[in-house]
Amino acid sequence: MSTESKGTALVTGASSGIGEIYAERLADRGHDLILVARRLDRLEALARKLTERTGRKVDVLQADLTLRSDLAKVEARLASDTSITLLINNAGISLEGSILENSAEKIEKILAINTVAPSVLSAVAAQHFVARNNGGIINIASVLAFAPEMMDGIYSGTKAHLLNLTLGLASKLQGTHVRAQAVLPGATKTEIWENSGKDPEALLPGMVMETADLVDAALLGYDRGEVVTIPPLHDESQYEAYNNARIAMGPNLSRKDVAPRYRA
Ligand code: NAP
Repeated sequence: MSTESKGTALVTGASSGIGEIYAERLADRGHDLILVARRLDRLEALARKLTERTGRKVDVLQADLTLRSDLAKVEARLASDTSITLLINNAGISLEGSILENSAEKIEKILAINTVAPSVLSAVAAQHFVARNNGGIINIASVLAFAPEMMDGIYSGTKAHLLNLTLGLASKLQGTHVRAQAVLPGATKTEIWENSGKDPEALLPGMVMETADLVDAALLGYDRGEVVTIPPLHDESQYEAYNNARIAMGPNLSRKDVAPRYRA
């Protein structure tokens, strides 16, 4: 147990799955913690466990990130607590069924949790971290950002949003000591599957990663200074080729003249 803190990490969705393992690993690394989610009993049990094991200070902040008033509580904490050096935007849900089966209410809910909350919290954190020239923002996206056909366009769209948010943020943060990382898990063994009526066992054998393996790999990517970390992708050159093709299109994407193929 060390008494010196490496700064406080605020982890959303820390009551289960990937967020819970991030909380464990960050406490082990010497961070104090603020754990955010709706299930207070789970957050409090985790806080007690981590404080006993590591001696770190662990606060809980109950918030339903679909509610503007609760999101404002998290924003206020990020803005006022100068010990915070790391934000993990991890809370997220998946849709049961596709765009053809979901109501407007369900679609608004997933957008609120998966895109509005992490965008707002990234902005508040980035503004304060830049003012102090220190900090990091980790956004838990998904490999589905690259594969809208594999599940549904709404969930994957929220994850593409987080990837874009992180790439854009990282470019704005160049020259500062503030970092941004997007983590793109593939299928990972957590409650999100049963909570959205899906069975991960129905996927092909070898497709589902253990949660601890995912988080340990993602933290290694963070330590290496990666902006985009894709723990399940073995052939890194595939992402590099995709990203280089995307960047190469950049200078050609806005022109006064219509492309010849669209001229009548
Ligand atoms: P999980 O175990 O279901 O965890 C989701 C977390 O989000 C829980 O802590 C939950 O806490 C929190 N949450 C849900 N709704 C919330 C709300 N309205 N307000 C506040 N917190 C809320 O699933 P997970 O797999 O660890 O998911 C974590 C992240 O990984 C998500 O962003 C997910 O999209 C992403 N991801 C997962 C996989 C995978 O296969 N597991 C793959 C790619 C990406 P409460 O219910 O207590 O509020």
